[in-house]
Amino acid sequence: MPYVADTIARLKRSSPAEVEFYQAVEEVLTSLRPLLDKDPKYKKHNIIERIVEPERQIFFRVPWIDDKGNVQVNKAYRIEYNSALGPYKGGLRFHPSVYSGIIELLGFEQIFKNALTGLAIGGGKGGSDFDPKGKSDNEIMRFCQSFMNELYRHIGPTTDVPAGDIGVGSREIGYMFGQYKRLTGNYDGVFTGKKLNWGGSLGRTEATGYGSVYFAQNMLEARGDSLEGKVCAVSGAGNVAIYTIQKLYQLGAKPVTCSDSRGMIYDERGIDLALLKQLKEVEGASLEKYIEHHKDAIYTPVSAYPAGRNHVWSVPCQAAFPSATQNELNEADAEVLLKNGCVCISEGANMPSTPNAVEKFLKAGICYGPGKAANAGGVATSQLEMAQNASMQQWTFEEVDAKLQAIMHGIFTRASETAAEFGHPSNLVLGANIAGFRRVADAMIDQGVV
Ligand code: NAP
Repeated sequence: MPYVADTIARLKRSSPAEVEFYQAVEEVLTSLRPLLDKDPKYKKHNIIERIVEPERQIFFRVPWIDDKGNVQVNKAYRIEYNSALGPYKGGLRFHPSVYSGIIELLGFEQIFKNALTGLAIGGGKGGSDFDPKGKSDNEIMRFCQSFMNELYRHIGPTTDVPAGDIGVGSREIGYMFGQYKRLTGNYDGVFTGKKLNWGGSLGRTEATGYGSVYFAQNMLEARGDSLEGKVCAVSGAGNVAIYTIQKLYQLGAKPVTCSDSRGMIYDERGIDLALLKQLKEVEGASLEKYIEHHKDAIYTPVSAYPAGRNHVWSVPCQAAFPSATQNELNEADAEVLLKNGCVCISEGANMPSTPNAVEKFLKAGICYGPGKAANAGGVATSQLEMAQNASMQQWTFEEVDAKLQAIMHGIFTRASETAAEFGHPSNLVLGANIAGFRRVADAMIDQGVV
């Protein structure tokens, strides 16, 4: 596949050491091959060469003062990747692991995810290596305000609309929105993931987790199966994981695990959702505290995980929902899941499965929903928030949830029909990549060389 290898080689020269980014590009380009072979217009217009290059990247420093009066500084990024379908749209991540390669990976994936929703949103992403953990509220506020002192000039309700991601919730969005408003004098829908009483949408908090479960439901129903009664393994204990667990219960499934960066919980009777919310949404505590309330549950710290494995995936389950972070499920984990009878994977996180793990799932022919399709409910509901802000309306939870369900069904249908069109029915990686790419690429061709 010379075009994949050539593109990666070129990116390695122009964007050195961005390993996760090359991984994402390779995955997308490999699955686009049947389309590129069938329709020469994409090669003629050099779409691949253009689409892997962001339209704009902003790198900036964020100086701020900690509670002891010391000056601190962090690196920050906003990548405005592709605006063929609408304003740049994608979250901001605050985590010490953030560097340009992670932002490029996430921004690149976001283009196709957003296109797949069928909505008018382009692709973007951003963040900082700032670690919100252990910081006081005032430190978070000072950091967010300083971050916005630079970012405000690049964003706007019809140009670039950021949202949250790991480490960025409604508190951080609030501080950034407040500073944006102060600097520009505009009260507009420049962020999504806002709190309800200042422009947020009902259902946005739940959207990514709920959407990932709706996607699993669509995949299973297409095979005459359902989630009801299924034992489920979930990783993560943040926004996506919590609302995945909530929706799984509502649909009669039994989620038995969750995890954070320090360890995992296995609760055979089913995860205590109220306790999980209390620990993570209210106290910001470690999952280790869970077993203080449930002596029968098992806590395993990361240090005791089997070598080179994520122990969450050792738990026997019929459906798995990776909802923490990238590359958290590798080939060995995939083998264990399959051996234990897992028939459905729906990715709430972005690129949680390594390429070798994905290959195992596809080869086994189980239901496999790649992140860019399965977790698109978050960004789709963000677009619903933008629509409500622009029309000065507030829809009910039921209205938003019904639209979310329809959007997830549309994504599944688009991905599976495209997979079938190219002779690989049930390969939703191929279907999602081609369907997303085709929509963006056609718009790029229509809009000329810009
Ligand atoms: P979050 O609320 O910050 O939660 C992230 C969870 O993952 C936390 O439990 C965190 O543990 C854990 N985690 C983070 N890095 C980890 C690592 N390296 N190893 C093990 N555990 C780790 O973030 P989120 O919004 O749920 O996002 C989770 C994933 O979903 C990300 O891949 C994100 O890009 C993706 N996603 C999110 C949305 C959305 O709307 N939020 C939409 C689409 C995709 P600690 O509690 O110890 O920090």
